[in-house]
Amino acid sequence: MIRFNVPPFTGKEMDYIKQAVEAQKICGDGEFTKKDNQWMEERFGAKKVLLTTSCTHATELAALLADIKPGDEVIMPSFTFVSTADAFVLRGAVPVFVDIRPDTMNIDETKIEAAITEKTKAIVPVHYAGVACEMDTIMDIAKRHNLVVIEDAAQGVMSKYKGQALGTIGEFGCYSFHETKNYSMGEGGAIVIKNEKDIERAEIFREKGTNRSKFFRGQIDKYTWVDYGSSYLPSELNAAYLYAQLEKADEIFDDRMSSWNRYYENLKELAEQGHIELPTIPADCEHNAHMFYLKAKDLEERTALIDFLKSKDILAVFHYIPLHTAPAGQAYGRFHGEDKYTTKESERLMRLPLYYGLKPEQVDYISEQVKAFYQK
Ligand SMILES: *Cc1c(COP(=O)(O)O)cnc(C)c1O
Repeated sequence: MIRFNVPPFTGKEMDYIKQAVEAQKICGDGEFTKKDNQWMEERFGAKKVLLTTSCTHATELAALLADIKPGDEVIMPSFTFVSTADAFVLRGAVPVFVDIRPDTMNIDETKIEAAITEKTKAIVPVHYAGVACEMDTIMDIAKRHNLVVIEDAAQGVMSKYKGQALGTIGEFGCYSFHETKNYSMGEGGAIVIKNEKDIERAEIFREKGTNRSKFFRGQIDKYTWVDYGSSYLPSELNAAYLYAQLEKADEIFDDRMSSWNRYYENLKELAEQGHIELPTIPADCEHNAHMFYLKAKDLEERTALIDFLKSKDILAVFHYIPLHTAPAGQAYGRFHGEDKYTTKESERLMRLPLYYGLKPEQVDYISEQVKAFYQK
């Protein structure tokens, strides 16, 4: 059976975890957390990066930092993971879903402005498959309407838009290091912070509302409860696992990209014949090969293709059920405008196996089976 995902493992993970154990420092904010934060700050040109327990928690932290209050509205796509909306619903805000573009499956930037009301506080672009949203347009809209931009860059670690790392463009960026993402620590994430003014508050919210981070830096002589907050810092054991991956970030990137490119080459002909559609990477975007998807004609054909591949020992999977059609989405949010592409395109999309260490022969075998399905 070819699995859909295998968590990345590069070799040094166990050594680093052992080092953390031997240093007798396994709670949060030790040496490995510092190394991870610093690695990302340098690599991505980010003002500040703080490791978190998940991307969901990074987004919750961003919602706190953006002062999202009950009744506020937050614009986002409906074709995304539940956490994009959950983080704001927890603060009592209303997710306002806007249609996606069929080419990238990202929020349609031309439909955002019409969804803005006097209650709108933030825009949350989700960089699907690590392919950037049209950020220039989104940042311009945000500036004109005085809105905060929180990038859901869960899938966009190591991707770029016009040369700039995803996650560093909006006021806040949220990364995921879940085991299904390109770089992993089991469960984990990070928040990227653009403005100096937000850093101290972020450290306080992340440390249960205390100024413990300042205390550890020796800037104050005792720490105390100064604000509301929660616990968003991961254990050093997880941070150690991630550091082994970050050190090999380029190797993981190149390995995934060669699988992605091989799929694309192998399946181009089927797309030219009109059987399937392949992903579009706009000229301004450098993606990270997070995902290889294709689109079948419709839901029925997609189901048949997934079943066919399963019979050939290949696990291919579909993706999000649009949030506005889910019970919680209906209770807490609303869709603005026409759902022209969100439902239709989500029903056609399926993802092929893609992970660090997937072999070229496996990519070829999977591609051959997709072709065999269409030759039947
Ligand atoms: C994976 C993912 C998340 C959630 O990440 P966690 O680290 O599991 O909390 C959020 N948004 C998107 C778009 C994702 O793909």
